[in-house]
Amino acid sequence: MTFNPDADVSDNNVQRRGRGGRTAAIAGGGVVGLGAVVVLLISAFTGVDLTGFLGGGTDPSQSQQQGTATGSTDGVVQNCKTGADANNSVDCRVASARLVLNQYWAKHVKGYVAPGQVSVDGSTPTPCGTASNDVGPFYCPSDQTVYIDPTFFQLLKQQFGAEAGDLAQIYVVAHEYGHHIQNITGTMTKYPNNGTGPTSNGVRTELQADCYAGAFIADMTAQKDKNGVAYMKKPTDAQIKDALNAAAAVGDDHIQQQSAGYTNPESWTHGSSTQRDYWFANGYKNGLGQCDTFAVATP
Ligand SMILES: [Zn+2]
Repeated sequence: MTFNPDADVSDNNVQRRGRGGRTAAIAGGGVVGLGAVVVLLISAFTGVDLTGFLGGGTDPSQSQQQGTATGSTDGVVQNCKTGADANNSVDCRVASARLVLNQYWAKHVKGYVAPGQVSVDGSTPTPCGTASNDVGPFYCPSDQTVYIDPTFFQLLKQQFGAEAGDLAQIYVVAHEYGHHIQNITGTMTKYPNNGTGPTSNGVRTELQADCYAGAFIADMTAQKDKNGVAYMKKPTDAQIKDALNAAAAVGDDHIQQQSAGYTNPESWTHGSSTQRDYWFANGYKNGLGQCDTFAVATP
């Protein structure tokens, strides 16, 4: 449990969009998993990336359509009014995290403008390519929107061996909001993509997003709903450990080792498991002020 059951999360304003019918495939795990691994293998060594969450350099425009379209499902996230709803459904939890993140960042960024957030059902086109589990959650700078398919966490569990519990899910959302902060504060322009590798701007950008996520999680219980009820409960040590585990599970070296049996640091786009864990923990322990991954020789 991460949310206070009686917190009001009804104004989360998250869109649900997509061409359904893929969740079934995910439940089977075979086909879609396979698709994701193929994409990973192709891009793990090409190092192309577009601020996705998954290491190994996945890129929405490379996503291959799998599963059959069963008509579009546009609307809002259903049955998502209270913290109890957020504790009972991944979709509602990911949507509710938005309220807490926006309140947190409004405190830390002058003139903060919230990103859009779309709960992807199967797949949906975006200005940055197709959003689907083939590429995992991502932030699209062109329309300033975070795209997350809630079934991604099954994939994180099945394919990457992470527990992917409640707090790990919040970490994933907070990572994508970190990219929004980098976009609206000019970090993305100041440090443009300059290739791949453990010290590249791309990796530093990803590690900073992990650090921002850690800093947010350390302060998330301070955010309150319109009735003054804190949205979140203080995370347990086990939950923090699980979130760190999720960060490590998507390190480039872990994904490359798992999918190809060896690692190629020069192609890294997100950083190693050690790097991702370090910066998440650094943000959590020391706050936003310690998240300048561009100021250190080796992040
Ligand atoms: Zn990212």
